Amino acid sequence: MRTGIVYHPDYLLHEQSPTHAERRERIAYTIDMLDEEEIWDDAGIKRINPRMAAEDEILSVHTGDYLRRLKEADISGAEFDTNTYGPPGFLKNALLSAGGAVTAGEAVMSGEVRNSFALIRPPGHHAGRNFAGGFCYINNVAVMTRAVQNSGVKRVMIIDWDAHHGNGTQDIFYDDPDVLYVSIHQEHCFPGTGKIKDVGDGVAKGRTINMPIAPGSSGRVYRYPVL
Ligand SMILES: [Zn+2]
Repeated sequence: MRTGIVYHPDYLLHEQSPTHAERRERIAYTIDMLDEEEIWDDAGIKRINPRMAAEDEILSVHTGDYLRRLKEADISGAEFDTNTYGPPGFLKNALLSAGGAVTAGEAVMSGEVRNSFALIRPPGHHAGRNFAGGFCYINNVAVMTRAVQNSGVKRVMIIDWDAHHGNGTQDIFYDDPDVLYVSIHQEHCFPGTGKIKDVGDGVAKGRTINMPIAPGSSGRVYRYPVL
């Protein structure tokens, strides 16, 4: 098997409101297309079921205080920022999303597949050590990174090509010399962070690379040799 795709129908359940930008259609359309293309019948593709992330996996990235806030929000609901509401019961969806990222990493580490894609939601890169925001509650890629490090990989590189800067991921690894965080994002877009001068801290100086680019930048800009 070459490529694993982690997916579960429960990834469609999370809902802040039916018209919210981060709604089920974000991946429902992708799944429709994969079904249409009969991708699951491709011999090179393996569909992988996710598991929930465990509490100690969450705590490898987020603070205990923050996890307590998530649990409280899970009962009563909470508005983390103007666009990020945690509706009651949201936490199991967030844990399945983080667990899906971990599952994708584990599938590669065990040799089950050569590479993998986690088709998961809610998203994660705006969630920092102690904060939610930008539709994100748990930093999925960070939880996966810690999991693969715990299974023997020392250094990890994260390439983040969302139009937004992944301020949460940067926050988590800003002083970690073993994780190289690279973000290519639209300049002056949400959340406004990710300046070129932000390069990491202390022993991790140089382990954060931010490349803000102009809106509408083409593939030519992505391929431009900067080094
Ligand atoms: Zn984003």
